[in-house]
Amino acid sequence: MTNSTRWQPDRSGDRQARTRPSLALALRRGLAARCPVCGQAALFAGYLRVRTACPNCGELLGRIHADDAPPYFTILIVAHIVVPGMLLLERAATPPLWVHAIIWLPLTLGLTLALLRPIKGAILGAMLALGVPAVEDEPA
Ligand SMILES: [Zn+2]
Repeated sequence: MTNSTRWQPDRSGDRQARTRPSLALALRRGLAARCPVCGQAALFAGYLRVRTACPNCGELLGRIHADDAPPYFTILIVAHIVVPGMLLLERAATPPLWVHAIIWLPLTLGLTLALLRPIKGAILGAMLALGVPAVEDEPA
């Protein structure tokens, strides 16, 4: 006598947990400002405003908040480029301050604006890949 009903795993759980990309893939897609889950649609609706949901896969992108991490990592990287450059130029040529100003101020601004968006995308991708809970998921 055999039992025809066999135990089956529960596959009705969270769809997002089953389709979560690897950390490296989510980082790459986030750096490219694409949806970290599917990689098909744009992650941002503006320069830094994250889309509410991905139009391709439906992932609720707007629920994940990176908060201060993108500016923190941007400042960390830009400072490690600009400050040594300033010190090396000062030691090598000792130019007047206006030369420093016309070199380092635009470079700092340009690097910051160029890096902030991909860094925010990468952080959001990492948060999605690692399953960091959305703000609404946290208990009150
Ligand atoms: Zn998507």
